[in-house]
Amino acid sequence: MPEFRLYNSMTRAVEPFVPADGETVRLYACGPTVYNPAHLGNFRTFLFGDLLRRALKLAGFKVRQVMNLTDVDDKIIKRATEQGKSIREVTEPVVGTFLADRDYLRIEPAEHYPRATDFIVEMVDLVRRLEQKGVAYQAEDKTVYFAIDKFPGYGRLSRLDTRELKTGARVAQDDYAKENAQDFALWKAATPNDEACGAAWDSPWGRGRPGWHLECSAMSMSLLGETMDIHTGGVDLVFPHHEDEIAQSEAATGKPFARFWCHGEFLLTDGAKMAKRVGNVASVQDLRAQQVSAAAVRHLMFSTHYRKQLNLSGPALEASIEAVRRVGDFADRLAAAPGGTPALAVAAETFRAEFDAALHDDLNAPRAQAALFVFINQANAELDKRGSDPGSLIAAREAFGRADAVLDIVPEREGVDASVAAWVEQQLEARKAARGRRDFAAADQIRKALEEKGIVVEDTAQGARWKTER
Ligand code: AMP
Ligand code: ZN
Repeated sequence: MPEFRLYNSMTRAVEPFVPADGETVRLYACGPTVYNPAHLGNFRTFLFGDLLRRALKLAGFKVRQVMNLTDVDDKIIKRATEQGKSIREVTEPVVGTFLADRDYLRIEPAEHYPRATDFIVEMVDLVRRLEQKGVAYQAEDKTVYFAIDKFPGYGRLSRLDTRELKTGARVAQDDYAKENAQDFALWKAATPNDEACGAAWDSPWGRGRPGWHLECSAMSMSLLGETMDIHTGGVDLVFPHHEDEIAQSEAATGKPFARFWCHGEFLLTDGAKMAKRVGNVASVQDLRAQQVSAAAVRHLMFSTHYRKQLNLSGPALEASIEAVRRVGDFADRLAAAPGGTPALAVAAETFRAEFDAALHDDLNAPRAQAALFVFINQANAELDKRGSDPGSLIAAREAFGRADAVLDIVPEREGVDASVAAWVEQQLEARKAARGRRDFAAADQIRKALEEKGIVVEDTAQGARWKTER
């Protein structure tokens, strides 16, 4: 197997990756802020995480993944206040939607989904440690801040120049721009609004609530240890979120927080970042309403490398719907084929090697998918020959199966189970044989019998294909 290589945002280089213990990858993904259902932009980042997770498993590693659910932050409190609800009342239904959307998109569940509000004790502990080390201080406004000039590594991930750091100045909001590289809030003094919506807890510094960045440091260190293998998120999180996570964690432990930082690029619509405030968001719900399969969405997201921007468009989605239809047809055909040819085994072996090489090369999913379609073409041509070699068929199924264990892009065939598919394939083989001996009456008979069962046969250059009538 080629070595597994990943781009590390910290070093800005593609580097060989192995987990620190040689066996289990400790993976942390910044998860959704649960005040609104996640949009497809968010899910591009989560699908990148899914691809990484599955590719690591294919490479033979075990994975222990944590994804946090941000259930207390400025936006959630604002929403709760507007609606006269508690933060829990705002976030719980959104968590439910998130998990359902995740399942719809076939994103493998992480091992842990900690909620920030369940880790208040750990967060308070971390702030206390930072205070003891002299890098955190409580200001006149009762909020506890992190003193960035006490942490020499501040700005390394986002390449901030020390001259750009505004030492002594403070920023209390959760999200802020690079120009405001200032002391940031670890623990925010509670306001009456916070109290009213259940977003305030006791602490050594008085009633308050955690800053956004703190939760990821506290939860990842609790669940994965002080140094994790890989930390993922979208590119917009590099500053300030990840920079601040590093500062808080490393100032407390004196150890590297994450060995690799991996960031996924944006999903755009009409050239603009998909974002709530831009008003150009599409949701998983929208896709379901249009009966777009998860397979097509996954194919589309994987058709562009995760470090490049991807524009969501109708034609691109149409192309993916068509592409996964071919994958589904092939899956059925492979499942039902009676045998293969020696050349099929060769094609399977070439595909297997190319697929792995692509994924090991900084998760090159577009290249991996291209290899799959080359294989599908070759294999279809070989299956047309109707060989009887069982070994090559097993090799083809195996190569396809392990690739699909990563991509997961076979669309569901509604109402057709495997035994029906196998029967249809048998009928098509018989029809082909009939045509081969120029018995067109028999061939037509078979087609009619299939049509009576709602199966439409279509003859293509690659052989007969079938689908169910809608
Ligand atoms: P949030 O719920 O805003 O904290 O975002 C959850 C994840 O989605 C983060 O990793 C963001 O970086 C990511 N994200 C937000 N917008 C986009 C987008 N348009 N394309 C890709 N990822 C995004
Ligand atoms: Zn985070």
